[in-house]
Amino acid sequence: MLSTMQDVPLTVNRILAHGRLVHGRSQVTTWTGEGEPQRRSFAEVGARAVQLAHALRDGLGVRGDDRVATLMWNNAEHVETYFAIPAMGAVLHTLNLRLPAEQLTWIVNHAADRVIIVNGSLIPFLAPLLPHLKTVEHVVVSGPGDRAPLEGSHAQVHEYEDLIADKPTTYDWPEPDERQAAAMCYTSGTTGDPKGVVYSHRSIYLHSMQVNMAESMGLTDRDTSLIVVPQFHVNAWGLPHATFMTGVGMLMPDRFLQPGPLAEMIEREKPTHAAAVPTIWQGLLAELNARPRDISALTQVTIGGSACPASLMEAFDRLGVRVCHAWGMTETSPLGTVAHPPAHAIGTEEEFGYRLTQGRFPAGVEARLTGPNGERLPWDGRSAGELEVRGPWIAGAYYNGPDAEPLRPADKFTEDGWLKTGDVGTISPDGYLTLTDRAKDVIKSGGEWISSVALENALMAHPDVAEAAVVAVPDDKWGERPLATVVLKEGATADFEALRTFLAEEGGIAKWQLPERWTVVTAVPKTSVGKFDKKVLRRQYAEGELD
Ligand code: ADP
Repeated sequence: MLSTMQDVPLTVNRILAHGRLVHGRSQVTTWTGEGEPQRRSFAEVGARAVQLAHALRDGLGVRGDDRVATLMWNNAEHVETYFAIPAMGAVLHTLNLRLPAEQLTWIVNHAADRVIIVNGSLIPFLAPLLPHLKTVEHVVVSGPGDRAPLEGSHAQVHEYEDLIADKPTTYDWPEPDERQAAAMCYTSGTTGDPKGVVYSHRSIYLHSMQVNMAESMGLTDRDTSLIVVPQFHVNAWGLPHATFMTGVGMLMPDRFLQPGPLAEMIEREKPTHAAAVPTIWQGLLAELNARPRDISALTQVTIGGSACPASLMEAFDRLGVRVCHAWGMTETSPLGTVAHPPAHAIGTEEEFGYRLTQGRFPAGVEARLTGPNGERLPWDGRSAGELEVRGPWIAGAYYNGPDAEPLRPADKFTEDGWLKTGDVGTISPDGYLTLTDRAKDVIKSGGEWISSVALENALMAHPDVAEAAVVAVPDDKWGERPLATVVLKEGATADFEALRTFLAEEGGIAKWQLPERWTVVTAVPKTSVGKFDKKVLRRQYAEGELD
């Protein structure tokens, strides 16, 4: 039997229309680095988004599912592109301005972007790449910055403000199908070529509703959110869409992402909420310690992207700011779990432990754990396996060109269509995820898994150890065994037997998990974003450099 309900498509167009009309007075405030910030109401942003859509369609001939890329900081114009491009049926492609030039070139060519909208301050980065971006016909420049490096390019160069001026602020072209592509974002290519994730109107709509639930960020039009997480990184965790649904004010830092300006923004603009990765908050804490500011308006901070250390949470607790830990990835839009403790734990000793987990799955994200031998593992809070997820805002494939079948690599998707996250962890009986490792770093020893992160954390608690990284190395008997590489503190000498005893007695590491192989290094190799580069360590070991 069919339902009797209306079949209204869940599109970005509706989010745009709603925010503009119902929350027209809410504001997007963009930091300018000097004097007053730029302030623009949702009504203005909405009207300008429609003007931009007209300009792209009528002025630049953007059609159908053409890709329109942005190379921009978090600011009001970037919010305008978020709505304009999907609303006209085209695809917003946010470019990560921190990627190496070579990778960015690969991504633009792979997506076959026709237009790039760029902030003037990023022209020095874009200009040298442009000759290699053959599909790009138009470059649209917004905001201050010298335009000269773009002269002589094969692409036509336009001014954002000139392009949208005098364009109509209403539109009546057909609404896209809710399953159509609305936006795309590439994962960073740490393990091979980057992979394109293409969000639909429907996935964005449903994800935004989840972001707004009290179980997630739960903000209202009484709030202002300082959105530090970049708009080129998984749609700034869905915040620009979610805030347009509920009227939450957006405070955008533009390119002023250093701890000093962030502290000043918080003191002056009084956001009640903020979202960013842990390293940003570590920097802000150090700044606040050095130069105390009034941050009393800030009550809630969402932290994700990598694990939130307990010390960071405690430090913010002392400042009266409630940290909420969350997990997600490009493929999950990104909201996957959020760590609000269950009611029964509030005010008890259990509360902090719950807050430190990666969080609880919302109704829209189904999860399961798969063990080392492909077996399904129980949600008992102890059995560690690779996390697999499924849901209406979870990727089911990667982009492979507009007319090609999407890619479903076997290491990323199960045969029955679930996403293999590459994250290893446990799930408690009440649905809280605790990550222990990444699948490619976990040590598979005799059919059991050893968490490299658990060994590292236990080792780094030893007073002689400055840094420790643990990687899997091949072993004839067990398949793999852990190799511990240790950076010693100044003046300390290596006593591996003492470290093993420490791991067992103080670190709670089981005997069979204790490393037999040890090496001292002067520094652990790091990736461009400062994570341990375990690929390099594994290679050094294979080449005999770590013996
Ligand atoms: P990339 O895979 O390119 O690093 P993502 O931003 O999609 O890009 O990163 C997702 C990964 O980041 C997750 O698979 C997970 O390993 C890690 N991650 C995200 N949030 C957390 C968290 N709260 N705790 C631990 N790891 C996290």
